[in-house]
Amino acid sequence: MNTSQRNTLIIGGGPAGLAAALMLAKRGWKNITVLELRPAADYYEPDKSFNYLIDGRGQKLTDILQLTPKIAEISVDSKDFYLTQIQADGSQKTSKLPVVDPNRKTAYWIPRRTFVGLIYQEIQQNWQDNITVIFNAKCQEINRTKSSESEQLEVIVQNDSNITRFYPYLLVGCDGINSIVRTTLKTWDNSSSSRFEMQSFPSPSTGLRYKVLTLPPEFPLDNRGEKHAIPEMAYAIRSKIKDKKSKISLGLLPLKSPDATRTANIITRPNHAIWDLKTSEEVSDFLEVSFPQLPINQIISESEIERFATSEGGKFPTPQYCSGLYFLLNDLPNSPGIVLLGDAIHCFPPDIGQGVNSALEDVYILNRALTETNDDISRTLPMYESLRLPDIKPLIKLAQTAFPWQYNQSSMGKFIWSINFFIRFALSKILPFVFSPPAFIMIQNHNLSYEEIWQKAQNSSRNLYIFGLMIILGLMALKISNI
Ligand SMILES: Cc1cc2nc3c(=O)[nH]c(=O)nc-3n(C[C@H](O)[C@H](O)[C@H](O)COP(=O)(O)OP(=O)(O)OC[C@H]3O[C@@H](n4cnc5c(N)ncnc54)[C@H](O)[C@@H]3O)c2cc1C
Repeated sequence: MNTSQRNTLIIGGGPAGLAAALMLAKRGWKNITVLELRPAADYYEPDKSFNYLIDGRGQKLTDILQLTPKIAEISVDSKDFYLTQIQADGSQKTSKLPVVDPNRKTAYWIPRRTFVGLIYQEIQQNWQDNITVIFNAKCQEINRTKSSESEQLEVIVQNDSNITRFYPYLLVGCDGINSIVRTTLKTWDNSSSSRFEMQSFPSPSTGLRYKVLTLPPEFPLDNRGEKHAIPEMAYAIRSKIKDKKSKISLGLLPLKSPDATRTANIITRPNHAIWDLKTSEEVSDFLEVSFPQLPINQIISESEIERFATSEGGKFPTPQYCSGLYFLLNDLPNSPGIVLLGDAIHCFPPDIGQGVNSALEDVYILNRALTETNDDISRTLPMYESLRLPDIKPLIKLAQTAFPWQYNQSSMGKFIWSINFFIRFALSKILPFVFSPPAFIMIQNHNLSYEEIWQKAQNSSRNLYIFGLMIILGLMALKISNI
């Protein structure tokens, strides 16, 4: 079967799904359908309005898709990344973030909906003959059915009030953390290894809760109306209340467009007072007391306060992954297949900014496996798994350890993490052949795989123990010789 005769169904029109569709179309595949639950590609969901940082790893794919120059045009360059901290007394301090490695490829800050919207626009403008994207379409069920003598895939989809059946040759699961494709495979898989079961690992940021406040563009930053928010600047606005259960910080990431609304992330421990506020009045009073440096009632509209009060926000997930990345219906050369990408196979809190980049790298590796197997799915899918799986557990380990204390959830946790970070950073400068930089810095090097980064971090930990032991033994020997 040649690539134009196959039909491909992609479940999920997020970053992984739309990028996978574009990648297949660029390879000459036709009859590609993407099903997306949401009503539009750039649909605005306040509590899902994250800003992605598309780094060198994600750009390996966006380069192939010829999207990087377009991303650069509509995003903020990481090398121009400045953060202004605003204290409750109105004092402001702007600094360049030290954890951004200046030697790495420029990365780009872009809101999720702008990024997803950009890929969709590219599909609409240049690939309509190959790709159809259907919104408001929910994959409800996936079955294996018999047709003549062979088995085929049947996907049941609800689109508005209609039920449609698809019979894809290749089914691509890009449907995120609660993937129906993966959970279906879990019920089909009769191996003892639970290939499609998510394995979870603890992290200090798991379970933190978040809500997002939508603010107007260039909102005032003081009560005199003298200073206004600059779109390309990141802000951390600190509350007056310092009590652990009530203190908050508004975190704003940079935006290119001066006309776009700003989003302020509020990330707290689950027992924070903000989760007890039920009415608009309670929210409004809380924000006014917390942020006397801002004209809160001028900045935040009543309707936004009301939305915020009723929103349940979200929770950071547990770092998790599954070890099965594909499924073939049978052993025949033209067997229909299923492949999983993105959050459907690995998911974690946003600490290391690798959610979208790892999803794009999955698509990049699938593209490589297709090239190496001449688009022969029964060979491509096992190759994709063998190329990608060695990286996935290290990715989860990195998500657990690289920067989980950044949300001020524990001053002791952050203090110990910072000491560890600076010791590794200093030692990597003095003895670069013995110690690697902290993992968070190495992640920014897209030429290193997650497996290599994790290995280097482990070697540094081992060398740190040996180094520490040598210092202790040296001090003991000195003490004995002085007796
Ligand atoms: C609070 C928070 C902040 C984050 N911040 C960052 C960050 O700063 N940087 C970063 O890189 N990553 C971040 N992430 C992670 C990032 O959003 C994901 O890793 C990334 O979106 C993965 O892309 P995906 O396409 O695999 O999955 P998703 O983005 O989850 O897309 C899956 C799509 O599938 C659709 N879908 C699901 N089920 C069905 C169905 N049955 N039928 C049809 N469609 C379906 C969904 O509507 C969705 O559009 C954050 C995540 C969270 C929760």
